[in-house]
Amino acid sequence: MSKTYYIGTFIHSLTLTTLEIVEHGIICVSNGIIRSIQRMGEDYSESDSTLPPSAFLQKLGHDNNNAQQLTIRIIPKNHFLFPGLIDTHIHASQYPNLGIFGKTTLLEWLNKYTFPLEASLTDPAKAKRVYRQCVQRSLRNGTTTAAYYATQSARSTNILTDVLIDLGQRGFVGRCAMDSDLQPKWYRDESPKAAKDDTSACVGYCKEADQSGRVRGIITPRFAPSCSRDTLSNLGRLLADGEQDGLLCQTHISENKNEVELVKQLFPECSSYAHVYDVHNLLTPRTVLAHAIHLTEDEIALIKSRECGVSHCPTSNMALGSGSLWVRHLLDEGVKVGLGTDVSGGYDVNVLEAARMACLVSRGVAEGGKGERSKISVEEALWLATRGGAEVLGLGGKVGGLEVGMVWDVILVGADEVPVDQDGEEAEKMLNGVHHDHDGKQTKIGGKVDFFGWETWEEKLAKWLFSGDDRNIRAVWVGGELVCRK
Ligand SMILES: [Zn+2]
Repeated sequence: MSKTYYIGTFIHSLTLTTLEIVEHGIICVSNGIIRSIQRMGEDYSESDSTLPPSAFLQKLGHDNNNAQQLTIRIIPKNHFLFPGLIDTHIHASQYPNLGIFGKTTLLEWLNKYTFPLEASLTDPAKAKRVYRQCVQRSLRNGTTTAAYYATQSARSTNILTDVLIDLGQRGFVGRCAMDSDLQPKWYRDESPKAAKDDTSACVGYCKEADQSGRVRGIITPRFAPSCSRDTLSNLGRLLADGEQDGLLCQTHISENKNEVELVKQLFPECSSYAHVYDVHNLLTPRTVLAHAIHLTEDEIALIKSRECGVSHCPTSNMALGSGSLWVRHLLDEGVKVGLGTDVSGGYDVNVLEAARMACLVSRGVAEGGKGERSKISVEEALWLATRGGAEVLGLGGKVGGLEVGMVWDVILVGADEVPVDQDGEEAEKMLNGVHHDHDGKQTKIGGKVDFFGWETWEEKLAKWLFSGDDRNIRAVWVGGELVCRK
């Protein structure tokens, strides 16, 4: 069995508030699974890495008789391995509209910008172009797992499945079920039966197309106002039928105050928005609820008791003026929380943008009366972007951390230092972000964030979180496979 040893710095979340930073680590990966992790500490010297591979590993106590099947990757200085980022909520079909929202709020925004674009993706060539660009951008930004919404069209949704399989990202693909009279006539499911059949067909398509389970279908009632009662019930039944397979469900909840009012009018028999989903058996440990900003305490208790996960999408919430989620309260209540970019309510596919916005929004929430404790720290934001997202998507213990037995869904992050000689060619290249061969071994790309070399690792992480972008992501692996290298 071939093995790859990654030697260098690795960082990951241990708990919500604690990161583990290991400067001299050796991680052994085979068949896409982490087999061993060694933390070398003081007994490591730089010259060790110049030994022949087998001698080097023997010195470190690794028994390997077959050096042919051995690959060693030395992580360059000022680079670190980090778990791949997890986007728990993204609409691939809205990708071309990034940044286009004007002054609209949710319900106007849907009709003005979103539905027309989504409906136009019944053109397969257009759908493929949009989806490929979206998924590639997402991967280049370090997202190794994403929960996608496609469109109402089954055909267009299956194109997204094909794209994900082709590009190698781990993901969930949801066809938007939407059959209510509130939907425009030109963009809706014909009937509850059509909504159910097309949903089943798309879930089945994923299963057929990717037997590895890396890309899976997900039940997706768009949101309560988009769906008839029959459709909600039918999807609840599909979700129950898929329990053995770990089938997930995703939808939106309590994003905007007008939407909450609308749900009250549309479902007068229900005591709350969460109750609408609950009576249709859509609240389960396999359910991902996006936004959850304006929930009542009773709704939070209900969601907690059903063990649903919440996708916090602060970038989108600020862009559409939806409100500020009190994340600390959900975490204190024991609700699973991850981060979502919510493209294109959110204006960036980068999960780090959502992470930094989670920090900023939480400061607004604290200042607005919820108190100091409400502030989200760098460590917490990075936990939400990795471990938190994994839990929300039912992948806890599998991805989101660096532990023996977990899958190698990992990113290589570069934190290049500003050259000492500011007049030299190096400084110019870094400013311009030019590809650069360093000692004939590594490729280096300057980014927006400048590291000076005196920062602690904690400080480097904070700088990366707040100012980093795709230029800092140098390699992306999913299931042990290199899916993006720059
Ligand atoms: Zn959304």
